[in-house]
Amino acid sequence: MDKRVEEIESLLKDIGCATSGLSEVLDLGLGIPDLRKVYKALEKKQASLYKELNKLKKKCSHNWKYGGHGHNDDWYVCTICGETEDR
Ligand SMILES: [Zn+2]
Repeated sequence: MDKRVEEIESLLKDIGCATSGLSEVLDLGLGIPDLRKVYKALEKKQASLYKELNKLKKKCSHNWKYGGHGHNDDWYVCTICGETEDR
């Protein structure tokens, strides 16, 4: 496997652990302002890594996750490539 692919997958694993830990802390509602910024930054980094990974692999099997409720319908986001879709 490509070295960069391995590197990205390992980074994504670490970021995944960090964001899930952070989201638990955020749920406590301690009101630490920078915490949300860190969380957002991690999410951004995660999305760009997923995009790069997808480009390297040149395919995406899409792993849709509920993203939220939009105007008229719900939207879903692929946790792999970051693509969004309204349904
Ligand atoms: Zn995808």
